[in-house]
Amino acid sequence: MSDVKERTLVLIKPDAIQRGLMGEIISRFEKKGLKLVGCKMMELEEALLREHYAHIADKPFFGGLAKFMQSTPVVAMCWEGLEVVNAVRLLCGITKAREAEAGSIRGDLAMSVACNVVHASDSIENAEAEVSRFFKEDDLHSYDKSEYMHVYAEDERG
Ligand code: UDP
Ligand code: MG
Repeated sequence: MSDVKERTLVLIKPDAIQRGLMGEIISRFEKKGLKLVGCKMMELEEALLREHYAHIADKPFFGGLAKFMQSTPVVAMCWEGLEVVNAVRLLCGITKAREAEAGSIRGDLAMSVACNVVHASDSIENAEAEVSRFFKEDDLHSYDKSEYMHVYAEDERG
């Protein structure tokens, strides 16, 4: 049975906020057919940032990355859809933006490794942990999206 309710976390990073790319980035996910079920602007506290980037907290670039991620608020979003974790990673492109595939968000909109406009969860397990790290269950919404009839085939809608 397919799961159109898989969820993933996306952050719009400070470089995108400064460069006026919020709408463009949200639009990419909307046009793909994904459902936005949570969205908020927030400042990343030290503890949250350390937890979120625990896998790179001992890297030499972490200090600079933390400063960058705290330089403006970020937009945290939870997107829902069928195999959405993988779909969103593909939409975002690889970490090093100047080598990211043309057509992807990073490939089209960024040049840097650190300032690569978006964060996206990299596995189903991490997506679940990250969505609950950034959102209370009450801040995640459930609603019908009429376009699902056209975004997915009947058997894919589950
Ligand atoms: N990053 C960096 N230098 C590096 C590797 C990563 O500044 O050499 C930053 C970059 O902003 C990246 C984030 O750390 O998006 C998280 O790294 P990760 O390897 O998880 O990449 P992602 O999953 O974001 O593609
Ligand atoms: Mg990552």
